[in-house]
Amino acid sequence: MKTLLLHTCCAPCSTAVIERLQYSKAYVVTAFFFNPNIHPVAEYERRKAELKVYLQKQNIPYQDRDDETAWRDQVKAWFTDVKGVEWASEKSRQRCEPCIRLRLQATARQAKQDDFDSFATTLTISPHKDAEQINRLGLAIAEANDISFVEADFKQDGGFARSIALSRQEKMYRQNYCGCVFSRLERKTRPL
Ligand code: SF4
Repeated sequence: MKTLLLHTCCAPCSTAVIERLQYSKAYVVTAFFFNPNIHPVAEYERRKAELKVYLQKQNIPYQDRDDETAWRDQVKAWFTDVKGVEWASEKSRQRCEPCIRLRLQATARQAKQDDFDSFATTLTISPHKDAEQINRLGLAIAEANDISFVEADFKQDGGFARSIALSRQEKMYRQNYCGCVFSRLERKTRPL
């Protein structure tokens, strides 16, 4: 089996992705929480805490890079990357690409540094996310970092429905916006 560092955006999205990866028996999964896009910090901490509880139950190792100075730098880098395209819509090349790229780059670098065979992300499980966009970014980042990326569209074959079922079963907190301050404001004017 290959070792895999899985970029995880939150607990609900991680449920069905981890289940599928484990069922494949192809990977030994470690979760990596790197999401400086999530606003406000209380929401960030809530999603992280919920994820850690679930991972502990599933006996999945966890990593993040949350020492305080690094966290501030990550958030600054995120706002720098989306400057000028803040109000582009979710799924957009303008705003979401730099956001996703930043998170996948951090995952690939961490995976390389820690000698994982590959990396992946939970992000494609959301129906609001474009799997082609995410896989294209993942493959380019993998090539640049000399590590393999596991292409997927986890929402397919009932993946998204399974994540809803598992997160309900676990009585998880499910947020109603993607993560950034702009998606939070957009959600107030748009139904789920
Ligand atoms: S909507 Fe989601 S993916 Fe897009 S920029 Fe905001 S947090 Fe990132």
